[in-house]
Amino acid sequence: MKKVIVVGAGPAGLMAAIEASKKHEVLVIDKNAMCGRKLLITGNGRCNVTNNRPTNDFLKHCSPSSKFLYSAFSQFDVNHLIEFFEMQHCPLVEEHDHRMYPMSQQSQSILNVLLKACEKNKVNFLMETTVERLVIKNDKVVAVLCDKGHFECDHVILATGGMSYPLTGSSGDGHAMLQMIGHSVTELYGVEVPLICHDEVIQTKKLQGLTLKDVKLEVISNKKVIKQTHGDVLFTHFGLSGPSILYLSEWVQRELKKNHEVLISIRSTQLNEQELLESMGPVVLAKWIKPFGPKRWTDYLLSETTLDKQQLMNQLPKKDRLSLVNLLLKKTFMVHDTLSIDRAFVTAGGIKTSEIDPMTLKSKLVENVSICGELLDCHGELGGYNITIAMVSGHVSGKHV
Ligand SMILES: Cc1cc2nc3c(=O)[nH]c(=O)nc-3n(C[C@H](O)[C@H](O)[C@H](O)COP(=O)(O)OP(=O)(O)OC[C@H]3O[C@@H](n4cnc5c(N)ncnc54)[C@H](O)[C@@H]3O)c2cc1C
Repeated sequence: MKKVIVVGAGPAGLMAAIEASKKHEVLVIDKNAMCGRKLLITGNGRCNVTNNRPTNDFLKHCSPSSKFLYSAFSQFDVNHLIEFFEMQHCPLVEEHDHRMYPMSQQSQSILNVLLKACEKNKVNFLMETTVERLVIKNDKVVAVLCDKGHFECDHVILATGGMSYPLTGSSGDGHAMLQMIGHSVTELYGVEVPLICHDEVIQTKKLQGLTLKDVKLEVISNKKVIKQTHGDVLFTHFGLSGPSILYLSEWVQRELKKNHEVLISIRSTQLNEQELLESMGPVVLAKWIKPFGPKRWTDYLLSETTLDKQQLMNQLPKKDRLSLVNLLLKKTFMVHDTLSIDRAFVTAGGIKTSEIDPMTLKSKLVENVSICGELLDCHGELGGYNITIAMVSGHVSGKHV
C-alpha cells in the first residue's frame, strides 16, 4: 500500500482519489475550505457533467491535443461515467446536443456522489492548505511542501485545474510546480469567454442588458464563415456574451491568435426577405420597423440608416427597401478581444501531453507523479466535455498508481 497525495479536490482530483484509494492510502489536499468549489457553479448550478457521444465523436469536439486522451477513454469512457453516477443513485438525463445533467438538476448531487465514494474508501482530506512544491530526491517525488508543513508520500497526483476563475482555487499553481521539475506548459488562454467589441453602440452601452433570442450566430474570419450556431446573444457593457457566444469563443480565439479580422454576425431566424418586402405598405419607417425586434434593437438599427424615419415605406426606392431588409436580417460586430483568462470558463493549453504517458497519465520525467484534469493541455467545447475530461483523466491516473 502506497501513501498517495492528490493535490486538488475538483472533479479530476476526487475521481483520482476514489480510484487510487481502492488500493492505497490517499490524502487529498486543497487550498479551499470545501471540495469541488468550481464544480458547484458549473452549468449554472446544474452541472453539465458529460456529453453522450462515443469516444471518437466526443474527442472531435475537443482540442486537437486531446487526441492524447484516446488511451484514457479506452479504459473509462462516457458510458462508464454515466454508469458510475447511475450506480450511486444519481441518474443523468440527456438534453439537447447530447448534454447530460444530474436528474436532480443540481451540481451538489454530483459532488455528493464523489464525496460519498471518497468517504466509503476512507480518503483523508486536508483543506485550506496550499501545496507550494514537490520535493524530489533521486528523480522521485518524496513529499509535498505546503504552507502548513510538508507531507511525505510515495506518489503524487496533481489535479490543480487551469487558470480560469482563480477565486475557485485554480490559479495555475500546478503549472508552476510541474515547470519546476522540468515539464513544459503550452500557451495558456481562456475559452468559453465573453467577447469584447469596440463598436460605438457597445461602448455607449445603448444595448447593455439586451438579449436577442433564437438568432443565428456566425464567426467570420477574414471574410469566411468558420463556425455557426443558434441561440441567444446578450449585449453587455463591453461586448457580447451568453451561452452561444461562449460556445463560439473557442473559434474566435483561434482566429484572433492568427491576427485575422474576426466578426460575429447576428442573423434573424424569424424574418425573411420576401415577407419583409411584402410588409412595406403605406406606413412610416419608424412604425414599420417596430414589430421586428425589441425596441432598443430596432431603435439602434434605425440609427444606423440615414433614411427619413417619417418616410412612407411604399414610397421608398427599391435599393433603400433592400438595404433596410438587409439591416434587419443580418448585423455584424467586429471582435477586438476576449475578456481575460480569469473570466473564461475553461483554460486552453496546459502541461504538454508528449511529456506524459497516455496510458497511465504518469509524468515521463518523474515517474511517481501523475497529472490529470484541466491542468493537462486538453480541453473541449462547451457542452459537458471539460468535466468529463477531468473525471476520465482523474479516474485513469488514480487507477495506475
Ligand atoms: C462558471 C463555470 C461553469 C462551467 N460549466 C461547465 C459545465 O457545465 N460542464 C463542463 O464540462 N465544464 C464546465 N466548466 C469547466 C469545468 O468546471 C472545469 O473544466 C473542471 O472543473 C476542471 O476540473 P479539475 O478538477 O481539473 O479542476 P478544478 O475543478 O479547477 O479543481 C482544481 C482544484 O485544485 C485546487 N488547487 C489548485 N492549486 C492548489 C494548490 N496549490 N494547493 C492545493 N489545492 C490547489 C483548487 O482549489 C481546486 O479545488 C465550467 C467552468 C466554470 C468556471
